[in-house]
Amino acid sequence: MRHCDSQALSSPGSSADAHVRGTGPRGLQARVLDLLLTREPHQRIRLGMCLLAALLMLCGIAAMYLSASAGLASLQAVHWWTLTACAIFALAYTLIRSGYSRRWRDPALTLFQCLAAMTCVAAAYVIALPARGLVLPLVAVILMFGVFGLAPRQMMAVLVYSLVLFSLTIAGVQWRQPEGGPPWPLAGAYLIVTAVVLLSSTFLILRAHAIRAKLHRQKVQLALAVEQVREMATRDELTGLPNRRCMLEMLHAQREQARRDARPVLVAQLDLDHFKVINDTCGHAGGDAVLQGFAHQVSRCLRAGDTLARWGGEEFVLLMVGVVPHDGAGMLARVLAAAATPVRLPDGNSVRLTVSIGVARLRPHESVDAVLQRADAALYAAKHQGRNRIAWAPGDAPEWIA
Ligand code: GH3
Ligand code: MG
Ligand code: MG
Repeated sequence: MRHCDSQALSSPGSSADAHVRGTGPRGLQARVLDLLLTREPHQRIRLGMCLLAALLMLCGIAAMYLSASAGLASLQAVHWWTLTACAIFALAYTLIRSGYSRRWRDPALTLFQCLAAMTCVAAAYVIALPARGLVLPLVAVILMFGVFGLAPRQMMAVLVYSLVLFSLTIAGVQWRQPEGGPPWPLAGAYLIVTAVVLLSSTFLILRAHAIRAKLHRQKVQLALAVEQVREMATRDELTGLPNRRCMLEMLHAQREQARRDARPVLVAQLDLDHFKVINDTCGHAGGDAVLQGFAHQVSRCLRAGDTLARWGGEEFVLLMVGVVPHDGAGMLARVLAAAATPVRLPDGNSVRLTVSIGVARLRPHESVDAVLQRADAALYAAKHQGRNRIAWAPGDAPEWIA
């Protein structure tokens, strides 16, 4: 059975579709971006972050060469450091760009990139000689890259790794190059500043994580609430069928569609016969059970393209899309038979009911109101002819009936 969603009925190949699929003409800039970042939204974000990190790395490389040209760092060490940093970046970019990293839990390789960048900064501390203090604040920038890509546990892992790495690096520099390293109190200050930057950045990022998680939960709750409201606005509570509002929406959508592709559409009005008597003899609850049973039995014999809706009281509307009168007549005969299956009441008794059906074929340029009126007039005729039957609107019946 179709759902009340007119968007689903919109025609394929619209200009909006073309825009989403990106089939329009693209400029050179867009094509270069496609080449670098691909056209898949998630990959674009991952590769964009990777290229941003590369940009930062290039700034770091430039700073290192400036230091080397000023005689503050060994040029050979800077060459090796640059080579290693570029190799790490190239590896990360290749793994992401090729899609190979998708097989891992962290396809953006954020953890790998953060740990590698921390290691590069630690190595820069070793080779930057007197300028080494400048590289330490970079640890905060590296952690920022983890905001969207790292889970809290991974953040903690990066924090622990970085604390150990920088403690060992700063102590190692003092131990291995006592005369080339900074004075001990300055080295101690570097260590304290690095630890404070690492701890406070991690704390702030974890707070951001908590807020994001809360917003995500609220978004999910809101989506559920919207779905519930939508369900309440389009479903009939008693039978679970689409309600009148939903059916009207579908009829309008199908009328538009039928105008475009000339597909046949049949609209049938169904009215239970002598339902008042059932209500009077079985009580209102019994009547409700009969309505539910009828909806259930008829729904079971519908095709995927048919929709039964409760129109109001003991009246229903059946919409058959893509069905010519010849097939529609067979379908409605099955509905008539399904309705005649006895319905079990809450008190254990069963009731056998019948239904009268009026059916009309949607004509080109006919309004929804008009086709409903013709189906209703046919229903009136079916009642008049003795009930428990199908009556076609004049001129709409298949030849073997007319
Ligand atoms: P006919 O064959 O001419 O259609 O006669 P009928 O008795 O089916 O039609 P009528 O319009 O006289 O009575 C319809 C009854 O349906 C009256 C109303 O109380 C009952 N009804 C409408 N909605 C509900 C409902 O939700 N639950 C129950 N139990 N009864 C309902
Ligand atoms: Mg009625
Ligand atoms: Mg009735």
